[in-house]
Amino acid sequence: MGQQDGFLKFDRELPDSRPPEKRIEDFKEIYQPFPEVKTKKQAARCMDCGIPFCHSGCPLGNIIPEFNDAVYHENWEEAAKILYSTNNFPEFTGRICPAPCEASCVLGINKPPVAIEHIEKTIAEKAYELGYIKPNPPQVRTDKKVAVIGSGPAGLAAADQLNKAGHWVTVFERESRIGGLLRYGIPDFKLEKRFVERRISIMDEEGIRFKVNAEVGKNINPDMLKDDFDAIVICTGSTVPRDLPIPGRELKGIHFAMDFLTMQNKEVAGDKVENKISAEGKNVVVIGGGDTGSDCIGTSHRQKASSVLQLELMPKPHLKRDDSDPWPLWPMTLRTSSSHEEGGERKWGVLTKEFKGNEKGELSHIKLVDIEWVNQGGRQSMQEIQGTERDVPCELALLAIGFSHPENHLLENLGVEKTQTGLVGADQYKTNVENIFTAGDARRGQSLVVWAISEGREAAREVDQYLMGRTELPAKDSSFFDIAELEK
Ligand SMILES: Cc1cc2nc3c(=O)[nH]c(=O)nc-3n(C[C@H](O)[C@H](O)[C@H](O)COP(=O)(O)OP(=O)(O)OC[C@H]3O[C@@H](n4cnc5c(N)ncnc54)[C@H](O)[C@@H]3O)c2cc1C
Ligand code: SF4
Repeated sequence: MGQQDGFLKFDRELPDSRPPEKRIEDFKEIYQPFPEVKTKKQAARCMDCGIPFCHSGCPLGNIIPEFNDAVYHENWEEAAKILYSTNNFPEFTGRICPAPCEASCVLGINKPPVAIEHIEKTIAEKAYELGYIKPNPPQVRTDKKVAVIGSGPAGLAAADQLNKAGHWVTVFERESRIGGLLRYGIPDFKLEKRFVERRISIMDEEGIRFKVNAEVGKNINPDMLKDDFDAIVICTGSTVPRDLPIPGRELKGIHFAMDFLTMQNKEVAGDKVENKISAEGKNVVVIGGGDTGSDCIGTSHRQKASSVLQLELMPKPHLKRDDSDPWPLWPMTLRTSSSHEEGGERKWGVLTKEFKGNEKGELSHIKLVDIEWVNQGGRQSMQEIQGTERDVPCELALLAIGFSHPENHLLENLGVEKTQTGLVGADQYKTNVENIFTAGDARRGQSLVVWAISEGREAAREVDQYLMGRTELPAKDSSFFDIAELEK
């Protein structure tokens, strides 16, 4: 433990972000530099708890008190060694993770929790700066070949672990660039893509082959994969978006959030984008109150929308934890993202009833009504509030109401069974087909980057065990209870 009274002496402090009116002029990350001495003070706040609940809260089982201690002692090499032992990509999670570890930090019971995510990002960036992260190809190669389908965080983590185990790994990605939602979903103002590219180039030098514009089931024959590879890992994400089939859905100007975000991310990357969906000069309504919706808001501000309104069906969450979500569970409290700080309006308890258009078939308004949630026989059901129906102007509506499951055609081609909800069916990451495995959103449904990395690592262990009859790839520490299990 770095400093016994650190948690009493120092307040939680995070880097300042650039002023909203300045940062919406570009797509660069929003945080300003933070002096190292301040990060050391943040690490000093860690109490090195007897039972470190932060460790249980982290889906990767990151060994948080130990890396906090190493940071306090400015032993960056040791901190990096500890962090990278459980997390392949802390340079991503340190930027965009909602930090369930912080929600379960013991200090968070009566004070702001330890700034774990910021410390993680600092360790990762220091590790690159000091040259600790460099290509380290395996010393010994096996004669086994593994195909990973999909290059999101689950596929990348699986590929990284399997390559470390000495297997020959090829990642097939249907897009022209690697990264999955890290690349095309999450905007640059949250995660600049140079950090994704930096990691991919290391993995490339370590011997992983990346094949882009390679869609398995379209221009890559699944039978070829079955013939040429000893094992296959399906990491194709949960990409089928939920729709809103209400009157007027066919009007021009209604788009899925991912179509909108992908185009902007491509443009920032320098790709040519035709028929770009643009928010410029438009009244934008983002339907869906989650993170994807919030990314649409930040992107709309940067594209110079004339107004931005975000709608959520559920009631406004409470500001603080209550009896329904006590520590150390994930708090279902009101979240205000950096995009919300940049402007726009948010409304809760609102139902979108109809899209209305002009004579050219273009969206011009959305009909809304306020709703209340009532308990009917133990179930919450929504009721419209009489007299609240109104039309709001809207020329661009973005549907950010989640994703239901992965696309079907690949699973059918590979003979892989689905669950009732359409996810890839698997027992411990193994599908019904002997040498086919799965990880990430394709298996667990839409989730988080940290869970995708965790799943990719666990699936890699299963693959290695299958190929070699044993595995030395590290397992997630199971000596602590899983807070995510408590939440079910
Ligand atoms: C807009 C948005 C913002 C998000 N923001 C955050 C955030 O801030 N923090 C966070 O923790 N999580 C966030 N998430 C969730 C997170 O991005 C996902 O949980 C995570 O990326 C899932 O990883 P994955 O590898 O399973 O799938 P994905 O990242 O979806 O990657 C799947 C890949 O498979 C490829 N693919 C699909 N089919 C084929 C095929 N047949 N052949 C070849 N390739 C194929 C796809 O092109 C894609 O590249 C966000 C999600 C969205 C949509
Ligand atoms: S729970 Fe918080 S205070 Fe305790 S060890 Fe983890 S980070 Fe440190």
